[in-house]
Amino acid sequence: MMGIEVQKPKGINTQLVHNDYEAPAGFAAFPVAIHHASTVLFENVKAMRARSWLEKSSYTYGLHGTPTSFTLEAHLAHIEGGDHCLLVPSGLAAITLIDLALLQSGDDVLIPDNVYNPNRELANWLSSNFGISARYYDPLIGDGIAALIQANTKLIWTEAPGSVSMEVPDIPAICKAAHDRGVLVALDNTWSGGVAFQPFDHGVDISMQALTKYQSGGSDVLMGAVITNDAALYARLQLTHMRLGFGVGMDDVYLVLRNLPTLKLRFDAHDKTARQVAEWLQKRPEISRVLHPALSECPGHDIWKRDFNGAGGLFSVLFDAKYSEEQTDRFVDSLELFKIGFSWGGAHSLCVPYRIEKMRESWTESGILVRFNIGLEDAEDLIADIESALQSMHE
Ligand SMILES: *Cc1c(COP(=O)(O)O)cnc(C)c1O
Repeated sequence: MMGIEVQKPKGINTQLVHNDYEAPAGFAAFPVAIHHASTVLFENVKAMRARSWLEKSSYTYGLHGTPTSFTLEAHLAHIEGGDHCLLVPSGLAAITLIDLALLQSGDDVLIPDNVYNPNRELANWLSSNFGISARYYDPLIGDGIAALIQANTKLIWTEAPGSVSMEVPDIPAICKAAHDRGVLVALDNTWSGGVAFQPFDHGVDISMQALTKYQSGGSDVLMGAVITNDAALYARLQLTHMRLGFGVGMDDVYLVLRNLPTLKLRFDAHDKTARQVAEWLQKRPEISRVLHPALSECPGHDIWKRDFNGAGGLFSVLFDAKYSEEQTDRFVDSLELFKIGFSWGGAHSLCVPYRIEKMRESWTESGILVRFNIGLEDAEDLIADIESALQSMHE
């Protein structure tokens, strides 16, 4: 006889795994929710088959994104005037993604001699192990880049400015020469935070950001982004992103989302203080040259004035050649507010000396180069700290 079947209560383990509670709809708040996922659920097989990881109108697997990462990607693309963005685990992973998406054995890539050093390290590895040729050019070459382009040149890297020696390249001139010959241009746009330079207005094909810097702003997150407004290029990048498995953690994505509304305010504050400190350093006899794009003595200053609308907190100085490395190391060690450490874009001021002649094919300046990242402290206190550290060099 058919009776009403009483459902047997599920075992404790099943109950622990399957919970029927659904929070009421209608919750609204400013923070973007943190959606963690490896597995993404489908209603049925038909729904599963209908979805594609390539489309950001739905979800397939955590590696390809959740609402949290899609939201950050959309924000970042918008900031730079691009249409598409992919998040990756670090700024360097963004550089790797671009190289691997656009280069294959037999191809040639042109890289500025002042490039962020791990970009060079990657290119040299692609060159020694993967049959790609990597050549280095003078960052101030401008349209002279045309003479270096070969039939197999597929990509030209730019960095604006070089994040150690600060030369500002003529991006529109490089892009024009490249595009006349069917070559793509990638830009490491980290220095500008995406807010002081609009890459696609100046002809760039692909921009990348180390979100580790200004976008995170907290010295606590490693993440990168690749941005383009070209759908075909995006498809190539997306395929490589999938093949490399470049997923990001949603808690980290949340940290960047949380700090994004203050990006421009923080950038402008870094910028204002950095210019005060840089102008003060210009007057010091110990310093032979202040390499800050907003100062006329910086190579490429006129281009910065033409193309940029801000400068942020990062610049370098060259000490007078009469000071030994032992003395300039003593200067760096004597700083109290400025800490010694890589990266930048956080609230804390940092200072790092570089052996730049070992990083470049060609470097003709004399004097030790020291790079400052100006944080969010008061300018007077930073200047007083530098002043007393300069004193220590003479002791
Ligand atoms: C820091 C930095 C990167 C790499 O970022 P990570 O997240 O540290 O890998 C790339 N380019 C520039 C100019 C940088 O300063």
